[in-house]
Amino acid sequence: MQRQECSCSLLFSTIYSGLQGAIRLIRMPEVAECSTMSFVTTPATHDPTLLVHGGAWAIPAAAAADHEAGVRAALEAGYALLSLGGSAIDAVEAAVTVLEDDPTFDAGRGSFLTSDGRVQLDALLMDGGRMKAGGVACVERLRNPIQAARLVLEKSQHVYFVGPGAEQFAASHGMLLIDNAELVLERERKRLAHAKAREAAGLLDETFSGPEAIPGHVLHDDKSPETAFLSDPDRFASHDTVGAVALDAHGNLAAATSTGGTLNKTPGRVGDSSLIGCGCYADNLAAAVSLTGWGEPIMKLVLGKWATDRVAGGTAPEIAAREAISYLFNRLGGHGGIILLGPDGRFGLAHNTPAMAWGLATPGGLQTGLSV
Ligand code: ASP
Repeated sequence: MQRQECSCSLLFSTIYSGLQGAIRLIRMPEVAECSTMSFVTTPATHDPTLLVHGGAWAIPAAAAADHEAGVRAALEAGYALLSLGGSAIDAVEAAVTVLEDDPTFDAGRGSFLTSDGRVQLDALLMDGGRMKAGGVACVERLRNPIQAARLVLEKSQHVYFVGPGAEQFAASHGMLLIDNAELVLERERKRLAHAKAREAAGLLDETFSGPEAIPGHVLHDDKSPETAFLSDPDRFASHDTVGAVALDAHGNLAAATSTGGTLNKTPGRVGDSSLIGCGCYADNLAAAVSLTGWGEPIMKLVLGKWATDRVAGGTAPEIAAREAISYLFNRLGGHGGIILLGPDGRFGLAHNTPAMAWGLATPGGLQTGLSV
């Protein structure tokens, strides 16, 4: 790394790159000693890497091909930019836009419905090089909330907008406001009706919950039980939040997460996905992360920041990802999935749901999968 206008000493650390299988010398800035640093740049020696997810849940066999095709299309869009020297922030925005446009996923059109039958969307984008973030929540009239989040990041002195204010901000910067009905699928109307029938019958929300996996041992969240029997896929409805993390050739990290939230949610509810440090975070001096799963426990553990802090402290992303999901379960009985990418290109994926759609693009090619 090179710093401009800064005479601070540099800390040299060797970091093993699991991707390239080589030892590299990486110079990390000692920020605390440097009061006049204008910005940090890095030479174009990094292998661009893009990691995406399409939600962690019990993906039925009939939906498997759509999920893999969706994450592959997202990788292709994002990596087309990265491989030409494009920025990590552009790559994650492009990848998530593709996933929002794909009705397979719980983001953009095709999202879960609120209890009153509308789509309400949340999204966050974070640039780990500039430490800039942009978020929107509870938007109903935007086809691509991740693009509105980008506008917040680039064009506003603020970081986060909600509801009609977010829509007006996006419209004032050229985004089209659509009718909410354009985002609603018949498939989701049926899914909501089924969830409401279960609710009326006094049955537990089946999205994530079930009887205690370990009676008397697992802690339950105060909203509802978040444990689930992994052997009973009927207890999992889709939770296909989407996300992407990227490292560009200049050494910058970025993260993006976009969601329609949870099925039958109360209007106005915001989950972890768009909250900084919860479902999304990026910092060049730590890591980039995107999470999926039941949002309430992820929020309470500020799990994204928890995971990136561990990478900053020297834990390999592969280990930190697994530790984060263990912590989620052991502390609050939560279920979910994580993608985590370090500044040296090492990465980690983990989930404790039956499946998680994921994809990885590096100079070595594209890979997709439905579990790790
Ligand atoms: N985390 C999202 C939320 O709670 C849901 C998901 O990941 O599927 O809004």
